[in-house]
Amino acid sequence: MTLQNHISSSLRKGKHSETLLINQLSQERVEKDQKVYKLGFGQSPFPVPTEITQQLKRAANRKEYTSVQGLQELRQAICDFHRAFENKDWKPEQIIVAGGSKILLFCIMSAFKKAEILLPAPSWVSYEPQGKLAGHEVNWIETTFDDKWSLTAKQLDDYCISRNKDIPLILVFNYPSNPTGQTYNANQLSDLAYVMRKHKVIVIADEIYSLLTYKKGYPTLSDYYPEGCIVSSGLSKWCGAGGWRLGFHYIPKELGEDFKQAVISVASETYSCAPTPIQVAAIYAYRNMDEAKIFLDRQKRVLNQISQYITQELNQINITTHVAQGGFYLFPDFSHYRAPLENIKIYSGEDLTERLMNEIGVALLPGSAFGMAKDSLTARLAFVDFDGSQIFSDDLDHRDHLEESNSSTPFEFNKIKEGIKILCEWFSKLN
Ligand code: PLP
Repeated sequence: MTLQNHISSSLRKGKHSETLLINQLSQERVEKDQKVYKLGFGQSPFPVPTEITQQLKRAANRKEYTSVQGLQELRQAICDFHRAFENKDWKPEQIIVAGGSKILLFCIMSAFKKAEILLPAPSWVSYEPQGKLAGHEVNWIETTFDDKWSLTAKQLDDYCISRNKDIPLILVFNYPSNPTGQTYNANQLSDLAYVMRKHKVIVIADEIYSLLTYKKGYPTLSDYYPEGCIVSSGLSKWCGAGGWRLGFHYIPKELGEDFKQAVISVASETYSCAPTPIQVAAIYAYRNMDEAKIFLDRQKRVLNQISQYITQELNQINITTHVAQGGFYLFPDFSHYRAPLENIKIYSGEDLTERLMNEIGVALLPGSAFGMAKDSLTARLAFVDFDGSQIFSDDLDHRDHLEESNSSTPFEFNKIKEGIKILCEWFSKLN
């Protein structure tokens, strides 16, 4: 018996397979003892600080379910932490904790009877299937290299004016972005907030990477549009703890108690609560802000340094790339090579990433996996293939007082450098 014909059409077969293909090709090379440069997949390269893992060990006997919303102490610690680091004015009653922020995104979408989900392209891979699984229509607005892959207020305004639908519009708005590494400045956010307010757009601000914004004192959308801005975050990125599965959402009071209770109901009927030992360890992670600050500063300094290095190398040979402003990703645009690439039968990002993997073992993910048009010659480059535990070495300890700009940390990321060199050589031979 096969269930092939009964599988939900909301699961985007095409997009899933692009990622699987790169995975499979990469596996084949490993089996043949050939080199693979893992610039395709990204997760935090930094270890969870030891004191936090100790707390988790101690909490292993906490076997009870918690309330669906999560431990009160944890929600308070989250509010205090985000007040200190990001000036957020949150109350614990408005926080819902879960096993990762991803499931909460789905809970939010599932709490709506019927809605339209709007995504800037490129966007993270899971928003679209989640929106469809929740029974909603999903639409995209494509952004451009010149706009640094950012949604503009005009684009949003034009879209809303021509929309003519009587159902809520939910914009999923992620910054710093996976896949582009770009974020928004105060002017952009203020202009967007004006349009969002005008058209009553409900925004899910996916700020899972916000604490890894390299620049200090960055603005966030809820500074300008607090009443319509659900915020999504968690431990996965800043604390290097993706597999621990701890995320949360902040739901503004203005969206109403009924809405919050509806989201809690979905959570209750699906995941029940986040794992209790993880919640207990997370209380420690969020409370120890001095340690968190050192940990964050070191991560940001290293990520910024690597992003600058790669961007410079790529731009030198006209693979145009904006330097990342946070997180782990870059989104190079290979359009300047369209003619020579077409000469060797490469017409899309998918063709390109497949050939790069086959010929030189460089793994990238095509822009089309993130909602870009099929013929877009873009790709996501993740720069996490290095030993993140180096940031805990004594040598870096001495350098904490140094400013990012004059830091000459001995941080080693040779594997990435080698991959970029090979990539650049491959393109140089095209001309
Ligand atoms: N949002 C973005 C943009 C991500 O890149 C990820 C993880 O890859 C998530 C959300 C999900 O994070 P979590 O581990 O909290 O579920």
